[in-house]
Amino acid sequence: MNRRDWIGAVSAAMFAPPPSPASLETEIVRLKLRHTWTTVMSSSEFRDTLHVRLRRDGITGSGEGAPIVRYKESAASARAAVLSIKDYLEQSDPRAFRKILDEVFRRIPEEWAAKAALDIALMDWVSQKMGVPLYRYFGLDAKDAPLTTFSIGIDTPEITRQKVREAEAFPVLKIKVGLDTDEATLDAVRSVTRKPLRVDANEGWKSKEEAVRKIKGLEGMGVELIEQPLPASMLEEARWMRGKVNIPIFADEACLRAADVPKLAGAFDGINIKLDKCGGVMEAYKMIHTARSLGLKVMLGCMISSSVTITAAAHLSPLVDYADLDGNLLIANDPYRGVTVDKGKLILPQGNGLGLRKA
Ligand code: MG
Repeated sequence: MNRRDWIGAVSAAMFAPPPSPASLETEIVRLKLRHTWTTVMSSSEFRDTLHVRLRRDGITGSGEGAPIVRYKESAASARAAVLSIKDYLEQSDPRAFRKILDEVFRRIPEEWAAKAALDIALMDWVSQKMGVPLYRYFGLDAKDAPLTTFSIGIDTPEITRQKVREAEAFPVLKIKVGLDTDEATLDAVRSVTRKPLRVDANEGWKSKEEAVRKIKGLEGMGVELIEQPLPASMLEEARWMRGKVNIPIFADEACLRAADVPKLAGAFDGINIKLDKCGGVMEAYKMIHTARSLGLKVMLGCMISSSVTITAAAHLSPLVDYADLDGNLLIANDPYRGVTVDKGKLILPQGNGLGLRKA
């Protein structure tokens, strides 16, 4: 090769497009619930989540985001947000995922489920490309994955008892409260089990006095922690309330992303992180370390999702104190298999990336 050919070959290599362009696909998947799911927020028979698949170099990265109605998100709005930056994503090299995610967060206002779906797909792709399970990318040990709770939605005492019996394999339960049926719900649960409980009020108690009264009623009932007793905006009331009760209080709706964490120290004992709420694995990782630096405990929670999101969250779970990663167990038509549960303990899959298989 003469000098001119050599310079031509080098510059062609430097300026050539990536050898295998990426393709990005979206799909809205309707997840059917095993039981009608009722919380303070809503009651439903199914949930639609947005799935994305990022393909390049023969590797497919899978992501999912569950839109949250409270933040005016829908599967359609999440899909529109992803499609708005499809060209940019297909032209980017996913190995530079940090830069891509910064750009995704800059270009997509709100639409956290869309951002979560893209982040999860990128991290699945990148860790497959590196040839490691995602938890290895973070330097974690799968044996440190915690127990997960199984959640019992709000229902009649009879169905609540039946759900608690069905959840026999789980050593800790999460009980949804916050309507005027709270006492009957707890009585129904306690009539069939002595297991430790975590209680989630989903902002359902409307004054600090009501919250203190309800929490006092739960003291001595084997309740490990209570999530979001008061509306998210009532931060000063939460601080007052925490000084009057003896059960640890966790922020969920009051804690969306890393920037929310510092103001919660002193008003809460811990935070509940969800990938759909914060925009994915990398933001969740940032939240975990922010919370730790402030002495806050950490829970990883979820929305109703398939095994894609639940498995992505589970890969971070060796870092946290508590897990509530059961969203995939509440649905009847999960399209994937990933993380599994053995007597409540999260078992991470050993494949590269998220380690997902088609169901
Ligand atoms: Mg919650």
